[in-house]
Amino acid sequence: MSEKIWLSSPHMGGNELKYINEAFKENWVAPLGPNVDGFEKDLELFLNKDVNVAVLSAGTAAIHLALIECGVEHGDEVICQSMTFSASANPISYCGATPVFIDSESDTWNMCPKALKEAIEDRIKNGKKPKAIIVVHLYGMPAKMDEIVSIANEYQIDLIEDAAEALGSKYKDQSCGTFGRFGILSFNGNKIITTSGGGALVCHTKDDKDKTVFLSTQARDNAPHYQHSHIGFNYRMSNIVAGIGRGQMEVLQDRVDARRAMHDFYVNIFEKIDGVEVFSEPNSDFYSNHWLSSIIIDPAIVGKTREDLRLAFLEDNIESRPLWKPMHMQPIFADAPYYGTNVSEKLFEDGLCLPSGSNLSDEERERIANVISKFF
Ligand SMILES: *Cc1c(COP(=O)(O)O)cnc(C)c1O
Repeated sequence: MSEKIWLSSPHMGGNELKYINEAFKENWVAPLGPNVDGFEKDLELFLNKDVNVAVLSAGTAAIHLALIECGVEHGDEVICQSMTFSASANPISYCGATPVFIDSESDTWNMCPKALKEAIEDRIKNGKKPKAIIVVHLYGMPAKMDEIVSIANEYQIDLIEDAAEALGSKYKDQSCGTFGRFGILSFNGNKIITTSGGGALVCHTKDDKDKTVFLSTQARDNAPHYQHSHIGFNYRMSNIVAGIGRGQMEVLQDRVDARRAMHDFYVNIFEKIDGVEVFSEPNSDFYSNHWLSSIIIDPAIVGKTREDLRLAFLEDNIESRPLWKPMHMQPIFADAPYYGTNVSEKLFEDGLCLPSGSNLSDEERERIANVISKFF
């Protein structure tokens, strides 16, 4: 059996251990310390938009805190892109609120502005104005932010950007994660950079960041004893984990370049194959980190399905995976309202994510190309 080729695997830069060793030497083995501060500074500089970043234990935790800080409470409604990973929507349920799911549009596969507007107006007509909007930059592709931001402003609803997959992506030269009231990042093991597990909340005011740090460290009031007037969480990133993050930040732009080169590799291959479309930026306003390269297969032209191709890859021990199954199709969210048509359903039916790691070798790329050429 040939060695496994993963969809996306961790790729260390080299200096991660240096930062971890410093933490050990100074006994900063705690959820605070110089690596936490340093990682936050690195992210703020990289995002380049006068933001305040709080690093946390996970991207999911960041979404949860963003919702709480937007005032989401039991019985509220929160709008969320349907085509995404369940972690975008689960924190809505943690708050006791109801998700309202929105279809994708076919250019970016992200939240359809038309369906968003229709949903907001219909929910208001039903007597409940949504408390927040969660838009996702899927696979690193920026959503149509001009339209989404202007709708959020028009109705004065807080916007939360799930940029878990989009660190390094830009829309009109502005970093994804810096458009909404809050942006969330993830450093899970499969993301473009990783700390083994972790996340961040991107805030625009020092107040919001301070509140995030307060809530993520058990919400202790200022007193010599343990005094609490808020429900707190244990969501802060540790100084050890943040050391990995600092090492990864040194190579982030290299990782973006490598993922974008993987996308070009697939564009090249599929140029000559009818009935397959590689997921690409609609125009030069969009700059994707191409976290995962993906394709849409038209079975009517190809005569085979995305599942056939997935199995052909598997035969050679190569991982590929269907696109995210939309949340409105998931058993856990079967009762949630949904606005749109069948765009995301169709994408799920015909879409496949391909190996996209920044650490793939020329031989591994050749194995991938061989499977594709045999299959087609
Ligand atoms: C990975 C991911 C998350 C969750 O991040 P974790 O750090 O794993 O909690 C949320 N949303 C999307 C779209 C993701 O891909």
